[in-house]
Amino acid sequence: MKPAVQPALPDVRWAFGDVAELNSVYADRAADALADVLTSPAFGRVALVSSFGADSAVLLHMAAAIRKDAPVLFVETGWLFPETLRYAEDLSAYLGLTDVRWLRPEQAVLDAKDAKRLRWSYDPDGCCDIRKVQPLDAGLADFDLWISGRKSHQNKARATLTLFERDAARLKLNPLHDWTGAGINAYAATQQLPPHPLVADGYPSIGCSPCTSRVQPGEDPRAGRWRGWDKSECGIHKPSDDSEPVF
Ligand code: SF4
Repeated sequence: MKPAVQPALPDVRWAFGDVAELNSVYADRAADALADVLTSPAFGRVALVSSFGADSAVLLHMAAAIRKDAPVLFVETGWLFPETLRYAEDLSAYLGLTDVRWLRPEQAVLDAKDAKRLRWSYDPDGCCDIRKVQPLDAGLADFDLWISGRKSHQNKARATLTLFERDAARLKLNPLHDWTGAGINAYAATQQLPPHPLVADGYPSIGCSPCTSRVQPGEDPRAGRWRGWDKSECGIHKPSDDSEPVF
């Protein structure tokens, strides 16, 4: 329920340790949080991180309605499906996004640690580190807060997601943290957003091609990610130093 009188933003910048207060100020007001984060100096330098995956159009559409020039960081690992690369280009153009930054792994790092492009097959954590975590860390270096499209319904590891959280280095906003799959689908249908072409082919969650498989009815939406491995996240969502869960 939206309060009748909305609290004013502070005169000073929100700080790394203000997560609990932010979650209180913006309780049940995720859309307001997204608008304020994208427009107010109180949040510093802000970027949205997107995989241009199955659900990405919803958050990108919401952000584009506020600021089409908001920085959007997209990690192109070198292993994404060709459909994802085309979707990233097409959806960016469709939404009018003007600052989508494609982040790639350093070639020298790939030459040293994944010259045969097989690291995913025996060390997926190491592969994610050099192909996702390191490029994103470099891309986020200039930002104070980043916006993520994670949702608590996606798997058990994300069940405790909150609107604001902090990772090891900066504030993070999860505007869709309490959205259901049905809510995402309804928003996308209402706004007539272009779907990722692989969703209709049985992929409700889409990452790199060697590590993404089709999901069967009744399975966790992310069951097709790293199937057969004890791994459910790529490592870009780091814990804070106060025992927040590892995502
Ligand atoms: S998802 Fe797979 S291919 Fe992509 S970076 Fe991680 S281990 Fe490598």
